[in-house]
Amino acid sequence: MKERTRVAEVEPGQTVTVAGWVHEIRDLGGIAFVIVRERTGRLQVTVPEDDLPASVTDVVSELSRESVIQVTGVVREEGRAPGGVEVFPESIEVIAPAAPQLPLDPSEKVDAELPTRLNNRTLDLRKPDVQAIFEIRSTVLAAVRDSFRRQGCVEITTPKIVATGTEGGTELFPISYFGREAFMNQSPQLFKQLIAGSNLESVFEIGPIFRAEEHNTPRHLNEATSIDFEGAYCDASDAMSVLEQVIIDAHEAVIDEASDALSTLGLEDSFMVPAGGFERLTYDEAIDQVNATGALDEPLVWGDDLSTEAERALGEAVGSHYFITHWPSEIKPFYIKDTDEDETISTGFDLMHPRMELSSGGQREHRHDRLIEGFEQQGLDPDAFEYYTKMFKYGMPPHAGFGLGGERLIMTMLELDNIREAVLFPRDRQRLSP
Ligand code: ATP
Ligand code: MG
Repeated sequence: MKERTRVAEVEPGQTVTVAGWVHEIRDLGGIAFVIVRERTGRLQVTVPEDDLPASVTDVVSELSRESVIQVTGVVREEGRAPGGVEVFPESIEVIAPAAPQLPLDPSEKVDAELPTRLNNRTLDLRKPDVQAIFEIRSTVLAAVRDSFRRQGCVEITTPKIVATGTEGGTELFPISYFGREAFMNQSPQLFKQLIAGSNLESVFEIGPIFRAEEHNTPRHLNEATSIDFEGAYCDASDAMSVLEQVIIDAHEAVIDEASDALSTLGLEDSFMVPAGGFERLTYDEAIDQVNATGALDEPLVWGDDLSTEAERALGEAVGSHYFITHWPSEIKPFYIKDTDEDETISTGFDLMHPRMELSSGGQREHRHDRLIEGFEQQGLDPDAFEYYTKMFKYGMPPHAGFGLGGERLIMTMLELDNIREAVLFPRDRQRLSP
């Protein structure tokens, strides 16, 4: 194809060739305006019918919205046009026509329903506000990667097809692996621990996790992006500090690198980098605070997990990111280490956004005998995890880490109502295609 000028770079006086989608066609009789849209912006093509050859005006009269066209012409200043310029075409070529009936109109002022949008994601992503979400998602993932690398971590990738799940149980999607039963992995937990026990020491992974949870909520997916960290010679407090830095770096990158996308979403004034030093509430303090709000019909008692309502009540009371530490051991997984002082209390922590949980982490049980006991206490068969437990016999240092939900991070950063808005092709109970 001919070299194209990006719409954002068009200057008066130039002869340019631009390519993009037909966003809008306005035929005022005698003069027509075609708005061409591409990633960097919109450009008005002005077509005075009497002054232009039929080769141009005929194309315009047949144009359908969302067709891809290539326009060559002279740029002039025009205060009333988007971007303050317009193009008088010498030629207009239809590169890919669009059918006249669109399942979703990207120039539509009223939003289509989410299922319609997800079924027609290509068209949906031609809307600037949807495009902005995914530009910011890209910025966030890159910033998270940089943050980990600056904090001395090595990026790893671990298998998603596994013989046993991280925590066993009903949350696994079974698959057939050359006639053997296998599963889609629900978390890189066990693998990242195995690697934290190697000379790499501090590792991170950004990758998919699969959970066969039958929820239908605005914050659960069946395939999500997990941002995982595991560090040798770290305790829970160290892991919390790494996590806090990742969250701050992700926010700063959005301000530095994606401010236009933030404005497109109308968030330029409300978006703020969270102040460091996130509050660290113990589980006991957290349940007391929830009960003090009076928001629950039944007060929480020690040992309860925080319900969605409890998380919301506490989030409103705290008002910013915070950690909950010192959870009861019985509601944390077997690989979380108990505190040295009290074996009913774990080193597990959750990072909370006022709206929801973002991350769970903790120091891990690195002592082989205690690990095996933990399996047994949770009714899991340690033999099924022998590939994992045996490495704890050969010098496994103390280590800690966390798993942070990528889509939950983006959803809370951008005040999205539904987690599905933060994924191109979400997987939920109903949705398997596209
Ligand atoms: P929740 O209680 O909110 O369902 P969880 O405690 O089961 O989450 P973890 O196993 O702790 O989740 O996973 C770590 C992080 O991964 C969570 O804090 C969350 O951000 C993200 N995550 C877990 N499950 C999902 C899911 N189904 N959809 C989207 N994100 C998820
Ligand atoms: Mg959790």
